[in-house]
Amino acid sequence: MFKKIITSAAVVALLVAPQIGAEDANPDMPFGAKAFEIYKTAVEMKSTANHGETPKLARYLAGEFEKGGFAKEDIHVFETGGTAGLIVRYHGDGSSGKKPVSISAHMDVVEADPRDWVRDPFTLIQEDGYFFGRGTADDKLGMTAVTANFLRLKAEGWVPNRDLIIAFSGDEETGMLSTRALVNEFRNLTDSEFVLNADAGGATLPTNGGTPANFSMQAAEKTYATWELTVNNSGGHSSRPRDDNAIYELAAALAKIQDHKFPVRYNELTRTYFRGTGAKTPGDTGKAMVQFANDPTDAWAIKTLRSNPSYVGTTGTTCVATMLRGGHAENALPQSATATVNCRIFPGVGVAATEATLKEVVGNDGVIFNMISDPTETDPSPLREDVLVALQKAVDNKFPGLEIIPSMSSGGTDGMHFRAAGIPSYGVNGGYSKPNDTNAHGLNERILVQTFYDNLAHWYVLLKAIAG
Ligand SMILES: [Zn+2]
Repeated sequence: MFKKIITSAAVVALLVAPQIGAEDANPDMPFGAKAFEIYKTAVEMKSTANHGETPKLARYLAGEFEKGGFAKEDIHVFETGGTAGLIVRYHGDGSSGKKPVSISAHMDVVEADPRDWVRDPFTLIQEDGYFFGRGTADDKLGMTAVTANFLRLKAEGWVPNRDLIIAFSGDEETGMLSTRALVNEFRNLTDSEFVLNADAGGATLPTNGGTPANFSMQAAEKTYATWELTVNNSGGHSSRPRDDNAIYELAAALAKIQDHKFPVRYNELTRTYFRGTGAKTPGDTGKAMVQFANDPTDAWAIKTLRSNPSYVGTTGTTCVATMLRGGHAENALPQSATATVNCRIFPGVGVAATEATLKEVVGNDGVIFNMISDPTETDPSPLREDVLVALQKAVDNKFPGLEIIPSMSSGGTDGMHFRAAGIPSYGVNGGYSKPNDTNAHGLNERILVQTFYDNLAHWYVLLKAIAG
């Protein structure tokens, strides 16, 4: 299906058709002020796992939908695991005869310590053309755009030709219990043909202005899996060292994992990604991408891509040591030593197979493996012409003709739970940012003010195209 879409001349012609009547993207656009009010309110609510204000945010948004004309019975706030999820149904007239489309985003944000930030993370601050604050990018940007556009479209009296469903999670950054609830417990409310994810997708803006190389649409995720590796030992006095030593044994195991290179993997999606991105990437990196796309056994291309942290993950499974603890006293032989190893597993490889590989690489039965994550394995979502055509219209609003390239992310969005439940998911947010700009999860998270308004227009065009 994928190949057919990419090579179909009819689709390509449709994709580059000129855009008529571009939507404004500025503070004075319809619902621009309302969107800003929602964004500011959301950023200033501490919807982190520790501060626990996600249910408050869900109820605030629910109130906005009610004020915006959505019927009470179409708005559902549910609480689970100390957080909350939100489901809102925008009824269509059913004229398309198609199943609903869900739109996902998350209301929670990663913890932020004000002492580490230059500006208060829980105050929306506008400075130098940016909005600063925790969640300004991840993901109160997408969450706000979807919310504001539901309100705007409702106010304009627009009736979609199929139901649209908001499915907002409340712990995407931690346990994803609310995401699981959205797809399982509340499947009767969220069942859809596919999901548009407002927490992924976008383009990198050239630092000095101009047009991005392409728009990246997330259509697959690697599997996130974490193990603890432990070596136990009877210990003893440090004045009487022996050959067996928990720390040395663990260190040797880690060195072997460091040296191990997982086999090269590829699929239709990653080859298309490298072909498209490579054509617009200068130097050896771009050349390697194109060569890899044409021949995934090309040794030079593999070596070049694998030496680049941005692309190594797209060529196969990666595992890396991330945490370490061991010993109990400076003058005692260690009784135990434990390392954490985090893997991003290429689709199709499997968690069990990856564990087996790691054990084989380590080659020491004394190293005990303990899986500490709860991995969800998913296949890439098949590319769909209807999604690509609608997304192209939205992308054209900002960058006419900008090519959409499917991408695989390193793992960790709500999309994987929808995919695992058999509902394809596509990361299509209009997240335009300069390299190193957003700093999601990190300090001083920010997004361009213009991107905030561009993303509002992006979702307005996208929702109308997908259900109009
Ligand atoms: Zn996110």
